[in-house]
Amino acid sequence: MSRFVFVTGGVMSSLGKGIASASIGALLQLRGYSIKMKKLDPYINVDPGTMSPYKHGEVFVMDDGCEADLDFGHYERFTGICCTRDDSLTTGRVYEKVLNKERHGDYLGSDIQVIPHITNEIKNFITKNSENVDFTICEIGGTVGDIEGLPYVEALRQLSMELGKERTMRIHLTFLPYIKVAGELKTKPTQHSVKQLQSMGIQPDILLCRSEKPLNNEIRAKLSMFCSVAKDNVMAALDAENIYLIPNQYHLEGLDRQICKHFNLLDSNAEAQVETAIKNKWAKLTEVILHPKHSIKIAVIGKYTKLKDAYLSLTQAIAHAGYANNARVDISWINAEDTPENIEKLLKDAKCIIVPGGFSSRGIEGKMHAIRYARENKIPFLGICLGLQLAVIEACRNIGGLADATSREFTDKGSFVIDFMKNWDKEGFIEERKEDGDKGGTMRLGSYECKIAEGTLAHKVYGKSHITERHRHRYEVNYAQYKDVIDSSGIIVSGTSVDGTLPEIIERRDHPFFIATQAHPEFKSSPLSPNPLFYALIKAGIG
Ligand code: GLN
Repeated sequence: MSRFVFVTGGVMSSLGKGIASASIGALLQLRGYSIKMKKLDPYINVDPGTMSPYKHGEVFVMDDGCEADLDFGHYERFTGICCTRDDSLTTGRVYEKVLNKERHGDYLGSDIQVIPHITNEIKNFITKNSENVDFTICEIGGTVGDIEGLPYVEALRQLSMELGKERTMRIHLTFLPYIKVAGELKTKPTQHSVKQLQSMGIQPDILLCRSEKPLNNEIRAKLSMFCSVAKDNVMAALDAENIYLIPNQYHLEGLDRQICKHFNLLDSNAEAQVETAIKNKWAKLTEVILHPKHSIKIAVIGKYTKLKDAYLSLTQAIAHAGYANNARVDISWINAEDTPENIEKLLKDAKCIIVPGGFSSRGIEGKMHAIRYARENKIPFLGICLGLQLAVIEACRNIGGLADATSREFTDKGSFVIDFMKNWDKEGFIEERKEDGDKGGTMRLGSYECKIAEGTLAHKVYGKSHITERHRHRYEVNYAQYKDVIDSSGIIVSGTSVDGTLPEIIERRDHPFFIATQAHPEFKSSPLSPNPLFYALIKAGIG
């Protein structure tokens, strides 16, 4: 029987609903259940592909090429499952679907309304493919009370009624502000938020209370009484030093136990096994996170250095590689638009350098300055997507003697060593990309296979000849036309697309650890299974 756990958020945004949902999924997995993670996003964009990373944080890319909200990154990293396009819904997508049906005449002349047409589409989405798993954890984006979120809350109410308490559960993540002068945690905002939910026909079963101080008995009793939630189900979600400490923290609060109790799944004989499973996974990781043996500083040169969420998966992949190397990694964020002198000053005390992905020509000179610095000073270097493209341009300009080497993304004149490719081969199919296509649809997106040449650094790093990584870019290395200058600049193409036409990984023959990839390896890394490229980079940095 498949069951549904709905996660809503109250009082304000940024409470960490994504991490809370991911942690719930991870804990249920450790109890032996299969899970699915879904997210309903109330904004009207069809997907976040065109949203600025500055405002909304990074765009996460799934295996199937879906450009999704960054919470999907948390889901995959905490649970190890691969999410798909069918797990992510936005208001834009719901309306797109309903309007297409309307144009097609599927509604047989009836007027289309939020209830039932929009809510039915939302319910179909929530239940789709859920038969094959024990639990679907479904996060509702935004904060309860937002106008955009109303149809989702209504769909949740209807589903709760249709499937009954035995198959559905509602968890409300809320916030208890701490008033310093009074020395007290305040419950009123949560009471209001729960009242609002109740007025829409939803009674939360568990309150997960984000707070900076522990909840005493009195607070729990008060919340229980005013919100009609059993006292054992009023739980603390204390601020954590590191997000991977949260599953264990929730477990100690009894969250997974109370979820199982709700669904009548509690088996007291199995509890000891659950304890061991949790200790072996999350508690063990805690030890490495809190007491690492080494510490290392690495530099990341990017454009969105003010909003860390813009590089969320990257930051996580770096941290994971640190855990596996028993090291704490401190990132020095360098603004690519800073002066060359400042950039160089900041690079001086970094043990590794990363130039991450990016779009447009802003900051490219600063990034190339950092690449040159890494190349000349033999500092371990990892270039990601745009980072690879700039490593090729830098080498062609400064070693290959091709002074006007550039990418078609930056200008319309020059030698395009990085160029727009109209089509490519994906597992036997020719995929096409049109120059005038809409912005959301002209990229090489999702998982692609790459063939790695033996005897190369890439082969040593991955330990195999065939890998897959996820992509998100429009431009490619124009190796067919500029092979001679690229080769003579000291670059080795160590990984290519399976048909051999597109360079996927490059490295340098004159450097101990200089590697760059056209893909985004940061999308495939988790705390217990770091991506090989990041792992090897940090290892090289530690020395
Ligand atoms: N802007 C480059 C391209 O579209 C690189 C993209 C990226 O780094 N994700 O090809």
